[in-house]
Amino acid sequence: MNDYVEKLMADVKAKNPAQPEFYQTVQEVSESVSIVLDRKPQYRKAKILERIIEPERLIMFRVPWQDDKGNYQVNRGYRIEMNSALGPYKGGLRFHPTVTLGILKFLAFEQVFKNSLTTLPMGGGKGGADFEPKGKSDDEVMRFCQSFMSELFRHVGPNTDVPAGDIGVGGREIGYLFGQYKRLKDEFTGVLTGKGLGWGGSLIRTEATGYGAVYFAEEMLKTRGESMKGKTCLVSGSGNVAQYTVEKLNQLGAKAVTLSDSNGFIYDSAGVDQEKLAFVLDLKNARRGRIKEYADKFKTAKYTPINPSLDHNPIWDIKAECAFPSATQNEINAKDAANLLKNGVYVVTEGANMPSTLDATKLFLEKKILYGPAKAANAGGVATSGLEMSQNSERLSWTREEVDEKLHDIMIKIHKACYETAKEYGTPGNLVNGANIAGFIKVADAMLDQGLV
Ligand code: NAP
Repeated sequence: MNDYVEKLMADVKAKNPAQPEFYQTVQEVSESVSIVLDRKPQYRKAKILERIIEPERLIMFRVPWQDDKGNYQVNRGYRIEMNSALGPYKGGLRFHPTVTLGILKFLAFEQVFKNSLTTLPMGGGKGGADFEPKGKSDDEVMRFCQSFMSELFRHVGPNTDVPAGDIGVGGREIGYLFGQYKRLKDEFTGVLTGKGLGWGGSLIRTEATGYGAVYFAEEMLKTRGESMKGKTCLVSGSGNVAQYTVEKLNQLGAKAVTLSDSNGFIYDSAGVDQEKLAFVLDLKNARRGRIKEYADKFKTAKYTPINPSLDHNPIWDIKAECAFPSATQNEINAKDAANLLKNGVYVVTEGANMPSTLDATKLFLEKKILYGPAKAANAGGVATSGLEMSQNSERLSWTREEVDEKLHDIMIKIHKACYETAKEYGTPGNLVNGANIAGFIKVADAMLDQGLV
């Protein structure tokens, strides 16, 4: 850490107590962009980095709701409007009991650079609540979403702030949130993305993050004259991102052998083919069951429950060439990273946000594997949300092929920007630096143009 970053981090920690995930992302980005600040003193003079670290607006609110037994419940809701230099705030909503201000600030901060990389006109934001949708009835989820939107509606809008889904917020939740917004505002507008296909949603939005991550991995492999075909892949999670990562891997002739949830993981050496994936989609999206049931149904699979006493996650200790962490933050620690390398993994593509700890990231970079950091590799989701906003503004729907082609093209461009920027700043192949610097420069230039706001 150089002196500038050390001082910055001390200030960030003093001003934002108990937000370790936020410190982690700020440190990573600051270390990458130090060289840019040296080359472009106008950024340092205008305190661009210090301003980017401070959210433009923080909204925190009470979300009271009633469960099916008639009991009153209360959760905490948030929206972090991080940066609007490039467009309306854009980023998902996460409903999970682990949601805190610090988690959402880390996600919103990452989102600013990710959205910049997509080349689309979107600022960065994130929001959510410490609400656990697992085990709740559809009616309970609906009442919660309605209460959440009863406050959020005054802060969002198609030209102000456009939320989408994230962990725990899928098609069902977006539907309830949209319904309540429409009722309160008496307006049918593109205030949320990830909407149903019959009422303003975009084709391919559901698939976009997973598909995009695999397109990104394919681009990384191309730099070594290789492709995804025939590769064995470890995938974590079994939600939206994991599901469509597996689908695209199957389409490109690769084999996904693992899936997980917060209780454990399955290893299926025969591969999660399309038929087995259809079972997972029904299990997770309709029946809302646990991944253990996969191993009960398919005898080629073995289930391993989470063992909290271990210092590593055994899902990352399996022979493979590629890994697609697609569950949650910090799911790969230094020991997991060492296990991946030991088992022959040389392509790591982050579908989840910040799934690798700083030590794990360092190891991947030292070993010069093909490492696609989250803000580049999983940008396909928000990019397609941007395409959904365009279609809503035009009141048109593009075909599946049109959207997929645009998504693929955006992922190729993001990889190219990261690859070339890494080279330009003296760290060829380091896509962490490439993504951070390319994303930062565009936001910084817009902030300079727009003055001290
Ligand atoms: P999702 O559909 O809710 O699925 C999340 C998956 O991760 C589930 O299998 C869940 O298991 C598991 N998981 C969540 N928290 C966990 C924890 N603390 N420990 C272990 N497993 C956990 O969410 P998603 O949309 O796929 O999001 C997955 C990741 O991708 C997140 O990091 C998200 O920020 C990132 N991402 C999503 C999008 C998008 O378009 N959806 C875009 C960019 C990045 P349980 O069911 O047991 O909780």
